[in-house]
Amino acid sequence: MQPSLFISHGSPMLALTPGPAHDFLKELGERYQPKAIVVVSAHWATRELAVSSSQGPETIHDFYGFPPALYQCRYPAPGAPELAARLADELGATLVERGLDHGAWVPLSLMYPGADIPVLSLSLPVTWPNQALVALGEKLAALRAEEVMILASGNLTHNLRALQPDGSPAPAWVLAFQRWIEAKLEAGDSEALLAWQKAPGALENHPTAEHFLPLLVAQGAGGKARLLHQSVSNGVLAMDCYAFD
Ligand code: ZN
Repeated sequence: MQPSLFISHGSPMLALTPGPAHDFLKELGERYQPKAIVVVSAHWATRELAVSSSQGPETIHDFYGFPPALYQCRYPAPGAPELAARLADELGATLVERGLDHGAWVPLSLMYPGADIPVLSLSLPVTWPNQALVALGEKLAALRAEEVMILASGNLTHNLRALQPDGSPAPAWVLAFQRWIEAKLEAGDSEALLAWQKAPGALENHPTAEHFLPLLVAQGAGGKARLLHQSVSNGVLAMDCYAFD
């Protein structure tokens, strides 16, 4: 049985820069050997649900102003077109050709550097209400028994306008939100999570919702939450990761 995971992917530089979250993701991949991975990334936000049918998804460098070494990174994992066709049918999603954005390939390059596990991208329908995103996760849950990992990639907190030099102390509004989410997940309080926008610091931490919403899909796809990793980079990017298993 594979887990449903929520991971925080941070800056694209996470791929190349050792640190707590980078080191954690490298170790996390050693714990699980899925047959395939369904990724739901904050960086493929759509109005309606779409699924990638790519046989060999390209590596998308969807960021600007980073060092050349990052643009040379490739993650040549195979796609999973048969599973994509099945999911499109089961979920009523549109099939499209789509590569792996950095919300997918950056953490995957740390978890599974061999790029030998098929990866399928499912879009994040950001116009859907919270409850519908949890329900989407619930429909994905059965895949876990087929040894398919659900990997929801966002960031527990994500206010890029407030970025600090790395190593800066986290402000209270980051810590308050981080602790609120941890407490609600620990308590299994799914009602509170559906109203996460009312959490302390929610709007400061998520001026737009797309980096938080993958957590709702991950929660729907799994059982009780387990905190796997907690750290903060650049003062305001909480890098928390949870397993729902
Ligand atoms: Zn991101």
